Amino acid sequence: MRKKVFVLGLGLIGASLCKAIKNPSIELYGWDYSEETREIARKVGLVDHIASIKRASEMDIIILAVPILSTLHYLHELARLPLKKSVIVTDTGSTKHEVMKLAKTLPFTFIGGHPMAGSHKSGVKAGNPNLFEEAYYILTPTEGTNVEPLMEVLQPTRAKFVVIEPDSHDEIVGVLSHLPHIVASGLVRMSDQLSDNHPRATQLAAGGFRDITRIASSDPQMWTDILLTNRSTLLDLLTGWQEEMSQIQKSLIEEDQPAIYDFFSQAKQSRDTLP
Ligand code: NAD
Repeated sequence: MRKKVFVLGLGLIGASLCKAIKNPSIELYGWDYSEETREIARKVGLVDHIASIKRASEMDIIILAVPILSTLHYLHELARLPLKKSVIVTDTGSTKHEVMKLAKTLPFTFIGGHPMAGSHKSGVKAGNPNLFEEAYYILTPTEGTNVEPLMEVLQPTRAKFVVIEPDSHDEIVGVLSHLPHIVASGLVRMSDQLSDNHPRATQLAAGGFRDITRIASSDPQMWTDILLTNRSTLLDLLTGWQEEMSQIQKSLIEEDQPAIYDFFSQAKQSRDTLP
């Protein structure tokens, strides 16, 4: 019997997963609330069948690839459906604390997932079968859960699977992904104010500004959900960031040349040793 796999949300991550895992040994079902996305998925044969959540009770694996607050909503909905006893439900969300808190109350097996690969692009057209190749794919199972059947289905992504505690995950991605995202978006907003006074400013935006702000083009709904579900980590990190900025501001007010040099020198040393 072919395993039935259901991917809910056929945007960048969902479509990329479908493209990577679709093969004759599984029967792939997909759903997206956007009619246009469903139509594209149907046209390009992204999945074997388009099916609504009502079909969830037939599935062996259910993958939620929607913004995180929608994931929480779907988990409540799935909890009211008569799912298979052996079903494994997973998500792809960029934060894990909130979803794992809910997972403890669910009447089915849930394994948190976060493929650490992505893009500032979104939507079904951005789907890329090689997106996850060699990327870390974080799994946050509840205690005693066997992750093997899920890993088997996801194996064609050629991702590197790592099991990690949800709270450690949220702290790490808070520093490495979420705070940089807030800063990048803040810089773009500042440049908008500059453009009001200097209409040609954006034309002059050079490589450095483009590099550091590329991620600000990501989907605003996805990022709203990420911030709201990693709130306490990000509040601490924002305090740390403000202190960091106050320190460089103080050095500049005092024209403290060695301190300003150290600020950049320490950062350069760390950045140069990044693998
Ligand atoms: P996306 O915007 O490209 O795709 C989301 C898709 O879900 C869209 O097609 C949208 O129409 C659909 N959708 C939204 N709400 C829905 C609902 N209630 N029911 C059905 N469909 C719904 O976003 P994405 O980049 O694919 O992100 C999906 C998830 O993966 C998010 O939780 C995000 O945190 C996570 N993630 C994103 C990245 C990234 O770089 N983009 C990386 C890793 C993980």
